[in-house]
Amino acid sequence: MTHTSSVPLYWRLKKSKYNVIGTRCRTCNTAYFPGRQLCQNCRRKGEIEELKFSGLGKILSYTIIRTAPQGFEQYTPYAVAVIELDEGTMISGQIVGNPAGLKIDQRVKPVFRKISEDGSDGLIHYGMKWELVDGQ
Ligand SMILES: [Zn+2]
Repeated sequence: MTHTSSVPLYWRLKKSKYNVIGTRCRTCNTAYFPGRQLCQNCRRKGEIEELKFSGLGKILSYTIIRTAPQGFEQYTPYAVAVIELDEGTMISGQIVGNPAGLKIDQRVKPVFRKISEDGSDGLIHYGMKWELVDGQ
């Protein structure tokens, strides 16, 4: 009997926090982000593997947020966009910087930025945001 070891969950979570990690179905080549354990096309016939996305994509649509939820007030106005990754998967996320010049179809890349800060204990949360690729 062969022993197959799986990567510990905490490491997987850590990895997915700093990379754009999703999954892909080997059977029909559909990419999923966030990762899925079951392919929606192939169901149980699908063979799922981990896929590291480039993170690069383009803006499909966006909304400019002027009234932010509590804790995000200092970031307004900011844009939340629907991004189509080069691998063909859609994802939504915040676009860094002044949203005034944003256009549909602009290229974006992932960056890690401060998401929020808890004033009392100084806890800072980081996460993925997107910024425009230079030269646009
Ligand atoms: Zn599939």
